[in-house]
Amino acid sequence: MSAELQSPRTQIDEIDHQMVQLVADRMAVVRAIASTKKADTDAPLRDHNREQEVMANWLALGRQNELSDYFVGRILRELMNYSRRVQEEILDRSQDETGLDLLQVGYLGSQGSYSDLTLTKLFAERSQSKLHRRGFSSLTQAVDALEAGELDYTLLPIENTIAGSLNETYQMLAERQLSIVDEEVLPVEHCLVGLPGADLRNLKVVRSHPVALQQCASWLNKLSSCSQESHSSTAASAESVDRDKDLQVGAICSEEAASRLGLVILARGIANQTHNYTRFVLVAREPETVDRRRPARISLILTVNHRRGSLARCLDAFAQRGINLTKLESRAKAESPWEYYFYLDIEGHNEDAQVMEALDEVSRHANTLKVLGCYPRRSIFGEDLEPVEHQPEDLKPESEIATLKPVPNASLRRSGRKPTHEPSIVKIGGVPVGAGHFMLIAGPCAVENRSQITEAARMVRQAGGQVLRGGAFKPRTSPYSFQGLGFPGVDLLCQAGATYELPVITEVLRLEDVTRIAQSADALQVGARNMQNFELLKKLGTIQRPVLLKRGLSATIADLLAAAEYILAAGNQQVILCERGIRTFETATRSTLDISAVPVLKQRTHLPVIVDPSHAAGRRDLVLPLAAAAVAAGADGIIVECHPDPDQALCDKEQALTRRDMDDLVAMIRKAGKGV
Ligand code: PEP
Ligand code: MN
Repeated sequence: MSAELQSPRTQIDEIDHQMVQLVADRMAVVRAIASTKKADTDAPLRDHNREQEVMANWLALGRQNELSDYFVGRILRELMNYSRRVQEEILDRSQDETGLDLLQVGYLGSQGSYSDLTLTKLFAERSQSKLHRRGFSSLTQAVDALEAGELDYTLLPIENTIAGSLNETYQMLAERQLSIVDEEVLPVEHCLVGLPGADLRNLKVVRSHPVALQQCASWLNKLSSCSQESHSSTAASAESVDRDKDLQVGAICSEEAASRLGLVILARGIANQTHNYTRFVLVAREPETVDRRRPARISLILTVNHRRGSLARCLDAFAQRGINLTKLESRAKAESPWEYYFYLDIEGHNEDAQVMEALDEVSRHANTLKVLGCYPRRSIFGEDLEPVEHQPEDLKPESEIATLKPVPNASLRRSGRKPTHEPSIVKIGGVPVGAGHFMLIAGPCAVENRSQITEAARMVRQAGGQVLRGGAFKPRTSPYSFQGLGFPGVDLLCQAGATYELPVITEVLRLEDVTRIAQSADALQVGARNMQNFELLKKLGTIQRPVLLKRGLSATIADLLAAAEYILAAGNQQVILCERGIRTFETATRSTLDISAVPVLKQRTHLPVIVDPSHAAGRRDLVLPLAAAAVAAGADGIIVECHPDPDQALCDKEQALTRRDMDDLVAMIRKAGKGV
């Protein structure tokens, strides 16, 4: 080694030594805190405010030293995750000693497996009891242990949005004496991981659970010289990579499983489809009662004989009573060829009179009927949402817009409205906007951290918003303002959206990020400052995702339409226009909301037009009146900014709506006869 390198390397070794020592010192303090919490049984394990404060301090210090927020944030998150585990372990140990309220739960795999992550999510919601988790290398072993009384619960994966139902689980549910007592849905984000120093191009073997290999088949097929090996779980495959110390071997597993073992991520986003969710059920030996006020689901298995109409009669028993069927699937009975089990999920409680009647009737038409359990319904976020009160048809205000005559314009070949042209409908993650469909998009200006965006998603969902917004790449007027979390922010937004079943929209600033953002977000936003970034617009014309195009700060309506035309001409017809205020001489508001743009656009284009009163007003108190004006002017939707704790918002805090503001906004929209 050259002499010039020797000295800096020695320095690095010294710094590393100090860093590890500091991490160890920090952990010792964490342990001391855990012991204090152990004594005070009311003390929560996590203190979100404190975590946010620590994160803010780190980011500020990082910025002073010209370190990126992303990099600094990541290091702290890793430290915090590890601290949390250490604390949990210390608290668990004390529970072990006293034997108090300790639940034994079995799952497939080991630490960091998707089942393990799901347990964390599920029990955060379910109970305050301490968990003792036991990983098993097969589901059968985990269920055997449950039946033998060694466990209180076992978690079973039951279906996946790419791979379909898991036969093994259904088979066990059919044959054994188990009750489903809960469910959870986990967004699955597979990573290809390897040892530090491994290179994707040199991989010879990829290991994982067979379902994970199947879910990534298209991507793996491109690694031509690579063979695949099945392992009992994704986490077990990662452990084998760590154990074998072979740079040519990789595994598919969660990011958590990899980071626990110090493995590195070689590729992300490798699943055949962007949306990859696994639904799990928690099973016990005995059924549990579900509070009647909570939305619940019932799972059933039935078999019918080959008589004409027997299945139809069973299904009709539910339809007749207005009971919603959320799943119907058939599986061959292994023991008798050409006979089938039907797996059904219905919405409702097993004590509902309607449900009891329906099940009674089904049992008369079925050969066998087994109720697998009644449990809280969590796949649509499990809190009671207020029923939407629609105005009776005759009270809906006459739409002024219906009387507006189209104003054709030959240069707007695709966006222009022709005399016979119907208005277009664009869908964001299945939610329609346009042609009478009203859309409410809400969320923070910027994604700041996991708890902020998750809280914001919950807030949006509870208020009645349909799409979650959140900027990860922020175009800020000042280079010293928070610039967004970048791709990790997009990931957090998607995760929060998935948890609360909200499609997500986020802004794209750069041409080279379009494809990657489009892989995970349901829609892409072009901000006011980029409305005439024609190369970006052309690129957005090539993707399969809807684009929300915001009007430039000093763009005319004609400029906006011409910009939309760029996207449409390049092939993407899913464009939503957004009036967000323009620069005028007026300084009382951040921008001046050009309300007349709404009816003018509606005359000129068939595309949906929505309004952003938040950026127009720049002040919370004006958002609602401007939104009301937009609704009255015939806008197809509203996009607003809201925040669980506006005072702490890193971006646009003066205009962020509170929970109560969100409720008022939704009440206004509903009063105007719009169904959100
Ligand atoms: C935003 O929506 O976060 C935003 C930056 O808006 P605009 O581009 O309209 O300023
Ligand atoms: Mn903003």
